[in-house]
Amino acid sequence: MCGIVGYIGNKNCLPFLMEGLKRLEYRGYDSAGIGIIHNSSCDIVRNSGKVSELEEKVGELELHGNLGIAHTRWATHGVPGENNAHPHSNSDGRLILVHNGIIENYDTLKEELAGRGVIFKSETDTEVMVHLIDDYLKNGYQLFDSVRLALNRIEGTYGIAVGFADEPDKIVVARNGSPLVIGIGDNENFVASDVNALIAYTSRVIYLEDGEIAIVYKDRYEAKTISDEHVIKEVRKVSTRVDQISKGEYEYFMLKEIIEQPVSVENSFRGRLLPSEAPAELERCLKMILTSRL
Ligand code: GLU
Repeated sequence: MCGIVGYIGNKNCLPFLMEGLKRLEYRGYDSAGIGIIHNSSCDIVRNSGKVSELEEKVGELELHGNLGIAHTRWATHGVPGENNAHPHSNSDGRLILVHNGIIENYDTLKEELAGRGVIFKSETDTEVMVHLIDDYLKNGYQLFDSVRLALNRIEGTYGIAVGFADEPDKIVVARNGSPLVIGIGDNENFVASDVNALIAYTSRVIYLEDGEIAIVYKDRYEAKTISDEHVIKEVRKVSTRVDQISKGEYEYFMLKEIIEQPVSVENSFRGRLLPSEAPAELERCLKMILTSRL
Protein backbone atom coordinates (compact mmCIF):
# COMPACT_ATOMS: atom_id res chain seq x y z
CA MET A 1 0.00 0.00 0.00
CA CYS A 2 1.42 3.38 -0.97
CA GLY A 3 1.26 6.39 1.30
CA ILE A 4 0.12 10.01 1.48
CA VAL A 5 0.85 12.58 4.16
CA GLY A 6 0.13 16.29 4.39
CA TYR A 7 0.52 19.16 6.86
CA ILE A 8 -0.92 22.66 7.26
CA GLY A 9 -0.19 24.83 10.28
CA ASN A 10 2.23 27.34 11.78
CA LYS A 11 5.25 25.04 11.89
CA ASN A 12 7.63 23.91 9.18
CA CYS A 13 5.87 20.97 7.49
CA LEU A 14 9.04 19.05 6.63
CA PRO A 15 9.67 17.12 9.88
CA PHE A 16 6.10 15.75 9.86
CA LEU A 17 6.22 14.90 6.16
CA MET A 18 9.54 13.05 6.42
CA GLU A 19 8.55 11.20 9.57
CA GLY A 20 5.18 10.30 8.02
CA LEU A 21 6.81 8.97 4.86
CA LYS A 22 9.18 6.85 6.93
CA ARG A 23 6.29 5.42 8.94
CA LEU A 24 4.59 4.42 5.70
CA GLU A 25 7.75 3.21 3.95
CA TYR A 26 8.66 0.02 5.74
CA ARG A 27 6.53 -2.16 3.48
CA GLY A 28 8.78 -1.18 0.57
CA TYR A 29 8.31 1.50 -2.07
CA ASP A 30 9.82 2.53 -5.38
CA SER A 31 9.91 6.32 -5.19
CA ALA A 32 8.86 9.26 -3.05
CA GLY A 33 8.33 12.98 -3.29
CA ILE A 34 7.21 16.10 -1.48
CA GLY A 35 5.61 19.38 -2.52
CA ILE A 36 5.80 22.46 -0.31
CA ILE A 37 3.95 25.75 -0.65
CA HIS A 38 5.85 28.72 0.73
CA ASN A 39 5.37 32.45 0.12
CA SER A 40 2.79 31.61 -2.55
CA SER A 41 5.25 29.57 -4.55
CA CYS A 42 5.68 25.86 -4.82
CA ASP A 43 8.73 23.57 -4.45
CA ILE A 44 8.65 19.96 -5.58
CA VAL A 45 11.34 17.38 -4.83
CA ARG A 46 11.04 13.80 -6.06
CA ASN A 47 13.32 10.82 -6.03
CA SER A 48 13.31 7.21 -7.13
CA GLY A 49 14.49 5.00 -4.28
CA LYS A 50 14.26 5.27 -0.53
CA VAL A 51 12.74 8.02 1.60
CA SER A 52 16.17 8.51 3.23
CA GLU A 53 17.56 9.49 -0.19
CA LEU A 54 14.70 11.94 -0.68
CA GLU A 55 15.45 13.33 2.78
CA GLU A 56 19.09 13.93 1.80
CA LYS A 57 18.03 15.69 -1.37
CA VAL A 58 15.53 17.86 0.51
CA GLY A 59 18.13 18.62 3.21
CA GLU A 60 20.53 20.03 0.65
CA LEU A 61 17.85 22.44 -0.59
CA GLU A 62 17.01 23.77 2.90
CA LEU A 63 13.31 23.89 2.12
CA HIS A 64 10.64 24.99 4.54
CA GLY A 65 6.99 25.97 4.44
CA ASN A 66 3.75 25.76 6.44
CA LEU A 67 1.89 23.64 3.90
CA GLY A 68 3.16 20.43 2.34
CA ILE A 69 2.05 17.13 0.86
CA ALA A 70 4.13 14.00 0.31
CA HIS A 71 3.85 10.53 -1.21
CA THR A 72 5.53 7.15 -1.35
CA ARG A 73 4.64 5.42 -4.59
CA TRP A 74 3.74 1.90 -5.54
CA ALA A 75 3.67 2.22 -9.31
CA THR A 76 0.64 1.03 -11.24
CA HIS A 77 0.97 3.14 -14.42
CA GLY A 78 4.46 4.05 -15.61
CA VAL A 79 7.85 2.83 -14.48
CA PRO A 80 9.15 3.59 -10.99
CA GLY A 81 11.24 6.69 -11.71
CA GLU A 82 11.59 10.32 -10.74
CA ASN A 83 9.33 11.58 -13.57
CA ASN A 84 6.48 9.37 -12.47
CA ALA A 85 6.94 10.03 -8.74
CA HIS A 86 4.32 12.18 -7.00
CA PRO A 87 3.49 15.05 -6.43
CA HIS A 88 2.33 15.70 -9.98
CA SER A 89 1.83 19.29 -11.04
CA ASN A 90 0.10 21.44 -13.67
CA SER A 91 2.05 23.23 -16.40
CA ASP A 92 3.22 26.17 -14.25
CA GLY A 93 3.95 23.97 -11.22
CA ARG A 94 1.61 25.89 -8.87
CA LEU A 95 -0.94 23.10 -8.44
CA ILE A 96 0.33 19.89 -6.79
CA LEU A 97 -1.35 16.57 -6.17
CA VAL A 98 -0.55 13.21 -4.59
CA HIS A 99 -2.69 10.15 -5.27
CA ASN A 100 -3.14 6.57 -4.10
CA GLY A 101 -5.16 4.33 -6.34
CA ILE A 102 -5.96 3.80 -10.00
CA ILE A 103 -7.79 6.07 -12.46
CA GLU A 104 -9.64 3.73 -14.79
CA ASN A 105 -10.73 6.26 -17.44
CA TYR A 106 -7.33 8.02 -17.56
CA ASP A 107 -6.65 7.21 -21.23
CA THR A 108 -9.90 8.83 -22.44
CA LEU A 109 -9.26 11.89 -20.26
CA LYS A 110 -5.62 12.07 -21.34
CA GLU A 111 -6.61 12.04 -24.98
CA GLU A 112 -9.18 14.78 -24.38
CA LEU A 113 -6.72 16.97 -22.44
CA ALA A 114 -3.89 16.40 -24.92
CA GLY A 115 -6.31 17.41 -27.68
CA ARG A 116 -6.68 20.75 -25.88
CA GLY A 117 -2.90 21.25 -25.83
CA VAL A 118 -1.96 19.83 -22.40
CA ILE A 119 1.59 18.47 -22.35
CA PHE A 120 1.97 15.44 -20.10
CA LYS A 121 5.20 15.07 -18.11
CA SER A 122 4.72 11.52 -16.81
CA GLU A 123 3.33 8.12 -17.79
CA THR A 124 1.01 7.96 -14.78
CA ASP A 125 -2.75 7.78 -14.63
CA THR A 126 -2.56 10.33 -11.77
CA GLU A 127 -1.38 13.20 -13.96
CA VAL A 128 -4.76 13.50 -15.71
CA MET A 129 -6.30 14.54 -12.39
CA VAL A 130 -4.01 17.50 -11.92
CA HIS A 131 -4.63 18.83 -15.45
CA LEU A 132 -8.37 18.27 -15.14
CA ILE A 133 -8.44 20.28 -11.89
CA ASP A 134 -6.29 22.95 -13.56
CA ASP A 135 -8.88 23.21 -16.33
CA TYR A 136 -11.56 24.15 -13.80
CA LEU A 137 -9.20 26.63 -12.07
CA LYS A 138 -8.59 28.29 -15.43
CA ASN A 139 -12.35 28.55 -15.86
CA GLY A 140 -12.58 30.63 -12.68
CA TYR A 141 -13.48 28.02 -10.04
CA GLN A 142 -11.77 28.01 -6.63
CA LEU A 143 -9.60 25.03 -5.69
CA PHE A 144 -12.25 23.13 -3.72
CA ASP A 145 -14.87 23.23 -6.47
CA SER A 146 -12.25 22.55 -9.15
CA VAL A 147 -11.22 19.35 -7.37
CA ARG A 148 -14.83 18.39 -6.71
CA LEU A 149 -15.92 18.93 -10.30
CA ALA A 150 -12.86 17.10 -11.65
CA LEU A 151 -13.61 14.11 -9.41
CA ASN A 152 -17.08 13.90 -10.91
CA ARG A 153 -15.36 12.99 -14.17
CA ILE A 154 -12.98 10.45 -12.64
CA GLU A 155 -13.68 6.71 -12.60
CA GLY A 156 -11.57 4.54 -10.33
CA THR A 157 -10.07 4.60 -6.87
CA TYR A 158 -8.36 7.50 -5.19
CA GLY A 159 -7.14 9.00 -1.98
CA ILE A 160 -5.78 12.43 -2.91
CA ALA A 161 -4.29 15.52 -1.31
CA VAL A 162 -4.06 18.73 -3.36
CA GLY A 163 -2.28 22.04 -2.75
CA PHE A 164 -2.40 25.24 -4.81
CA ALA A 165 0.06 28.13 -4.46
CA ASP A 166 -2.70 30.69 -5.22
CA GLU A 167 -4.73 29.41 -2.24
CA PRO A 168 -1.98 28.69 0.30
CA ASP A 169 -4.33 28.41 3.30
CA LYS A 170 -5.77 24.98 2.50
CA ILE A 171 -5.23 21.37 1.45
CA VAL A 172 -8.09 19.64 -0.37
CA VAL A 173 -8.44 15.90 0.24
CA ALA A 174 -10.84 13.31 -1.14
CA ARG A 175 -11.43 9.60 -1.04
CA ASN A 176 -12.93 6.84 -3.13
CA GLY A 177 -11.75 3.32 -2.39
CA SER A 178 -8.39 4.41 -0.92
CA PRO A 179 -8.20 5.45 2.73
CA LEU A 180 -7.86 9.10 3.77
CA VAL A 181 -7.75 10.39 7.33
CA ILE A 182 -7.56 13.95 8.70
CA GLY A 183 -5.71 14.50 12.01
CA ILE A 184 -6.92 17.43 14.11
CA GLY A 185 -4.18 19.37 15.90
CA ASP A 186 -3.91 22.66 17.73
CA ASN A 187 -3.62 25.36 15.07
CA GLU A 188 -2.33 22.67 12.73
CA ASN A 189 -3.97 19.81 10.89
CA PHE A 190 -2.61 16.68 9.26
CA VAL A 191 -3.72 14.37 6.50
CA ALA A 192 -2.63 10.81 5.80
CA SER A 193 -3.62 7.65 4.01
CA ASP A 194 -2.96 5.70 7.20
CA VAL A 195 -3.63 6.81 10.75
CA ASN A 196 -0.24 5.37 11.77
CA ALA A 197 1.50 8.26 10.03
CA LEU A 198 -0.08 10.86 12.31
CA ILE A 199 -0.70 9.09 15.58
CA ALA A 200 2.46 10.55 17.15
CA TYR A 201 1.05 14.06 16.52
CA THR A 202 -2.63 13.80 17.41
CA SER A 203 -5.20 11.33 18.68
CA ARG A 204 -8.21 13.15 17.16
CA VAL A 205 -9.03 11.97 13.67
CA ILE A 206 -11.70 12.06 10.99
CA TYR A 207 -12.04 9.25 8.49
CA LEU A 208 -13.35 10.29 5.09
CA GLU A 209 -15.82 7.91 3.43
CA ASP A 210 -15.98 7.04 -0.25
CA GLY A 211 -17.28 9.95 -2.33
CA GLU A 212 -16.33 12.56 0.29
CA ILE A 213 -14.08 15.59 -0.13
CA ALA A 214 -12.79 18.04 2.49
CA ILE A 215 -11.01 21.38 2.75
CA VAL A 216 -8.44 21.31 5.52
CA TYR A 217 -7.30 24.68 6.89
CA LYS A 218 -4.83 24.99 9.75
CA ASP A 219 -7.62 25.67 12.27
CA ARG A 220 -10.75 24.08 10.77
CA TYR A 221 -12.10 21.77 8.12
CA GLU A 222 -15.22 21.41 6.04
CA ALA A 223 -16.51 18.23 4.42
CA LYS A 224 -18.91 17.58 1.55
CA THR A 225 -19.76 14.81 -0.84
CA ILE A 226 -18.43 15.21 -4.36
CA SER A 227 -22.03 15.92 -5.37
CA ASP A 228 -21.83 19.04 -3.15
CA GLU A 229 -23.88 17.96 -0.14
CA HIS A 230 -22.60 19.03 3.30
CA VAL A 231 -21.57 16.19 5.61
CA ILE A 232 -21.00 16.32 9.35
CA LYS A 233 -17.99 14.24 10.27
CA GLU A 234 -17.45 12.57 13.60
CA VAL A 235 -14.12 13.29 15.29
CA ARG A 236 -12.83 10.00 16.67
CA LYS A 237 -10.22 9.33 19.30
CA VAL A 238 -7.50 6.87 18.39
CA SER A 239 -5.49 5.22 21.08
CA THR A 240 -2.75 3.39 19.15
CA ARG A 241 0.63 3.96 20.73
CA VAL A 242 3.71 4.77 18.69
CA ASP A 243 5.34 1.48 19.72
CA GLN A 244 2.47 -0.38 18.05
CA ILE A 245 3.43 1.08 14.70
CA SER A 246 7.12 0.31 15.00
CA LYS A 247 8.58 -3.17 15.38
CA GLY A 248 6.67 -3.45 18.67
CA GLU A 249 7.16 -6.77 20.43
CA TYR A 250 8.80 -8.34 17.37
CA GLU A 251 12.54 -8.53 16.89
CA TYR A 252 12.36 -7.90 13.15
CA PHE A 253 9.96 -6.08 10.85
CA MET A 254 9.90 -9.24 8.72
CA LEU A 255 8.53 -11.29 11.60
CA LYS A 256 5.93 -8.61 12.32
CA GLU A 257 4.94 -8.59 8.64
CA ILE A 258 4.56 -12.39 8.54
CA ILE A 259 2.23 -12.32 11.53
CA GLU A 260 0.31 -9.34 10.15
CA GLN A 261 -0.28 -10.98 6.76
CA PRO A 262 -4.09 -11.09 6.89
CA VAL A 263 -4.23 -7.32 7.52
CA SER A 264 -1.58 -6.70 4.87
CA VAL A 265 -3.59 -8.56 2.24
CA GLU A 266 -6.60 -6.41 3.04
CA ASN A 267 -4.48 -3.25 2.89
CA SER A 268 -2.91 -4.28 -0.40
CA PHE A 269 -6.28 -4.60 -2.06
CA ARG A 270 -7.48 -1.30 -0.63
CA GLY A 271 -7.55 1.30 -3.39
CA ARG A 272 -7.06 -1.36 -6.06
CA LEU A 273 -10.62 -2.65 -6.05
CA LEU A 274 -14.00 -1.08 -5.59
CA PRO A 275 -15.83 -2.79 -2.71
CA SER A 276 -18.51 -4.08 -5.10
CA GLU A 277 -15.88 -5.86 -7.17
CA ALA A 278 -13.79 -7.19 -4.30
CA PRO A 279 -15.54 -10.51 -3.55
CA ALA A 280 -15.42 -11.73 -7.16
CA GLU A 281 -11.82 -10.58 -7.63
CA LEU A 282 -10.65 -12.20 -4.38
CA GLU A 283 -12.37 -15.44 -5.37
CA ARG A 284 -10.59 -15.32 -8.75
CA CYS A 285 -7.18 -14.80 -7.03
CA LEU A 286 -7.82 -17.62 -4.57
CA LYS A 287 -8.75 -19.99 -7.42
CA MET A 288 -5.52 -19.06 -9.23
CA ILE A 289 -3.42 -19.71 -6.12
CA LEU A 290 -5.14 -23.01 -5.37
CA THR A 291 -4.90 -24.20 -8.98
CA SER A 292 -1.19 -23.41 -9.15
CA ARG A 293 -0.61 -25.39 -5.95
CA LEU A 294 -2.29 -28.56 -7.28
N1 GLU B 1 -1.60 4.97 -10.02
C1 GLU B 1 -0.67 5.92 -9.48
C2 GLU B 1 0.72 5.75 -10.06
O1 GLU B 1 1.02 4.75 -10.68
C3 GLU B 1 -0.62 5.86 -7.97
C4 GLU B 1 0.08 4.65 -7.47
C5 GLU B 1 0.07 4.58 -5.97
O2 GLU B 1 -1.04 4.32 -5.44
O3 GLU B 1 1.15 4.78 -5.37
O4 GLU B 1 1.52 6.62 -9.91
